[in-house]
Amino acid sequence: MGLTKAQIKEFGLAAGLDLIGVANIERFRDAPTRMHPASILPEAKSVIVVGKRILRGGWRGIEEGTYWPSYTYFDYHGLLNSFFIQYPLYELACFLEDHGWEAVPYYSGVPETQPPTEPLRRGGVAPNVHLAIRIAGVAAGVGEMGWSKVFLTKRFGPRQRLHAIITDMPLEPDPLVEPQSICTRCMECVRGCPGAIPHINEGKTISIKIEDRVYEWADINLGRCCLMYHGGDPRLSPFLHKDFPGWSFDVTEQEVSEEAAYKFCWPLSTMPWRKTEEFPSGYIVEGHALLARWGIGEKEGSSYGVGGSRGCMRSCFNYLEKNGLIEQTFQGGEFIKRDRWLLPSKAEKKQVES
Ligand code: SF4
Ligand code: SF4
Repeated sequence: MGLTKAQIKEFGLAAGLDLIGVANIERFRDAPTRMHPASILPEAKSVIVVGKRILRGGWRGIEEGTYWPSYTYFDYHGLLNSFFIQYPLYELACFLEDHGWEAVPYYSGVPETQPPTEPLRRGGVAPNVHLAIRIAGVAAGVGEMGWSKVFLTKRFGPRQRLHAIITDMPLEPDPLVEPQSICTRCMECVRGCPGAIPHINEGKTISIKIEDRVYEWADINLGRCCLMYHGGDPRLSPFLHKDFPGWSFDVTEQEVSEEAAYKFCWPLSTMPWRKTEEFPSGYIVEGHALLARWGIGEKEGSSYGVGGSRGCMRSCFNYLEKNGLIEQTFQGGEFIKRDRWLLPSKAEKKQVES
C-alpha cells in the first residue's frame, strides 16, 4: 500500500511538529503567480503546511518589561523559525522522498523583500517566488486569519509559526476552518496594539476567497507596525530612551510604507556608531543591537523583536484562553496578570532611571 496522509501526519507529529494540514493545489487557484506553489514546483499537487507553537512564556519578559532576549532568540525569528520547526519539516520532506514523492521544503521568508527582476525563461515567473504562508495555512485547514492578520488555530490561538512542503504527491485536502470560528471579532488585539490595527468600525478590510469561504481581516498599517515592532517606537523601547534622551517621536502620526519603516529601524537598531563619553557603547541603540546579536544573530542576519506583539499576540491569546476559545490553557490563569506598561513617546532619561 502507498503512503497515506495519516502516515505523513503521524510521522511529522512524532518528529516534533505541532500542526499539520494539507491543501490541494486547486485551492491556490486565485494566488498571484509569484505567490503560487506551482511557480516553484510546476507538478505540485499538494501543499503540506506545518506549524510549531510559540511558547507563551517567550513573551513573559517583555510583558513584564524586564527581559527581551527569549522572544527574539527562541520564539520570533531565532531558533524556532530557523531550527526547531525546520528540523522536523526537513525530516518529513525526507520521509516523502523516501516514498518517491518530490518534496520542496519551503522557508516562509518575507515576501515584501522580493527584488524587482525579470523571469529567467521567456514567459516564465520572475524569482523569487514566495507563498503567503498564512493563506497557505488557511488553504490547508490549519486555521483561519484573525482580525489582526495573525494566523489563528484552535489549539494555540495566535501562537505558532508556519512553514510548508510543496509536493507532487496527490493528497486529499483537509477541511477548511470556518471563517470567524476562532476569531470572535472581540477587538482585544486593537485595544492592545499601540496603533497599527484599525477597529472593525473603520471598515478597513482585506479578504480572500478559498472555495466558497471568504476570509477577511483588518488592513493593518504595516509601516506603523514595523516601527512599533522593530524598535522605532519610544513607547515600546526603553532602549531608545537610554540612547536618545529628550527625543520625541509619535509613531501614530507616521504614514510610511513598511519598507520605509524597515529602512528607518534596521540601521537605527543594528548599526555601529562612534564611541563617545556620552554614548560609550559603539552602537546607535545599544539595547537593540545587542538583542539582534544574541545567539545566532549578528552574522546570520537574524531579526529582532522589540515591541513583542503587544496586541495581535499577547492580548489575543490572553482573551482566547480566558474565554475557553482555544485548547491550550494554563494552570496559572491569565497571561496578563498586572497593569501593562507603555512608555511616553518623548524619551526622557529619568523615565528609565526611576
Ligand atoms: S483579539 Fe484575536 S480573537 Fe479578538 S478580534 Fe483580534 S484576532 Fe480576533
Ligand atoms: S506587532 Fe505590535 S504594532 Fe504590529 S499589529 Fe501586532 S500589536 Fe500592533
